[in-house]
Amino acid sequence: MARDYYEVLELEKESSKEEIEKAYRKLALKYHPDRNTDDPKAAEKFTEITQAYEVLSDDNKRQQYDEYGFTEDDEGSGMHQYQMHNMDLNDALNMFMRSFGGGFGSIFGNEDDGMFSRRRPVAGDDRVLHVAITLEEAFSGVEKEIESSRLARCPECSGSGSRDGKAPVGCPDCGGAGQRRMVRRLGPVQYVTTTTCNRCGGEGSIIKDKCKNCRGAKRIRENIKKMAPIPAGVEPGNRLRLADLGDAGLRGGPSGDLYLIIDVEDHRFYERYGDDIKCEITITYPQAVLGTKVGVDTLHGPVELKVPSGTTSHTVLRLKGRGMPHLRNPHRFGHQFVKVKIDVPKGPSMKERSLLKKLRDLQGENRKFKA
Ligand SMILES: [Zn+2]
Ligand SMILES: [Zn+2]
Repeated sequence: MARDYYEVLELEKESSKEEIEKAYRKLALKYHPDRNTDDPKAAEKFTEITQAYEVLSDDNKRQQYDEYGFTEDDEGSGMHQYQMHNMDLNDALNMFMRSFGGGFGSIFGNEDDGMFSRRRPVAGDDRVLHVAITLEEAFSGVEKEIESSRLARCPECSGSGSRDGKAPVGCPDCGGAGQRRMVRRLGPVQYVTTTTCNRCGGEGSIIKDKCKNCRGAKRIRENIKKMAPIPAGVEPGNRLRLADLGDAGLRGGPSGDLYLIIDVEDHRFYERYGDDIKCEITITYPQAVLGTKVGVDTLHGPVELKVPSGTTSHTVLRLKGRGMPHLRNPHRFGHQFVKVKIDVPKGPSMKERSLLKKLRDLQGENRKFKA
């Protein structure tokens, strides 16, 4: 049984548009099914007040209703009577969203973030680019030409997406909410599911005349070619941030950044451990016994390394301050550690052979190893 629409909205017949709006808003919020999940009667009441509002908020419909009253659909054709169509909860929820285009967030004090966030400014995504450098480049620092691509703001439409620069209009399908709610009833239980609006793809607004350059996407792919300074001392896996070279934001949101991830190639001679460098050299047995000076490369240039007499194999000698610069303090350097190995030749010459035999005879061969 349909009730008087004015009664439903607790209004007088002479109420102004503003009063109708206000009354509906108050009651719709009170009985909204989202806020009354444990009261199945609320959904009925919500539908009823929304139906009343649909008629009274529309000048034509209200006039007809005031003049002729209404009939229900199943009561035949009232020639001059207002033909009422029975709204279901789905219609009511969509009507509610159309009336308060701001979506639930603005009405419910931003409780429903998922829905509202779709139309907030969105920051652009960060982008990541791997940059390979040599150890020498990591030592000295280097400028590298980098190439990357990103989504930049469309210059034709200044990121509006529309050809004439006009602002997008509210999506008529979802009333600007970006989402549509579907209500299903299974016995006494009512399921409300929310789906992204097909028409606007969740934007809540649509562009009527799309920009030709970006086809309404607001952003276009752009290639970036740039010299990027890579500081001395960088280590593999270090991330260098190039501000604002990521994707452009949407709806006034900030751009993302471009991150360079440093890969340092392996070196045939040097092995790096943080700021320190390790390398290996081999010397001969006489050099180890007698001591010697050998030329050793460092990243700073060649140096002379003194190997003391009596050096055993696998002894590690240190070249102080000949390592990598420290990333945060490039005047501080690590060390270079030189592992000294003693070379045992496989095929000695005749002359070497005879000298070694003499040495052996001198030293004697009768070593015994007892437990
Ligand atoms: Zn929509
Ligand atoms: Zn454009």
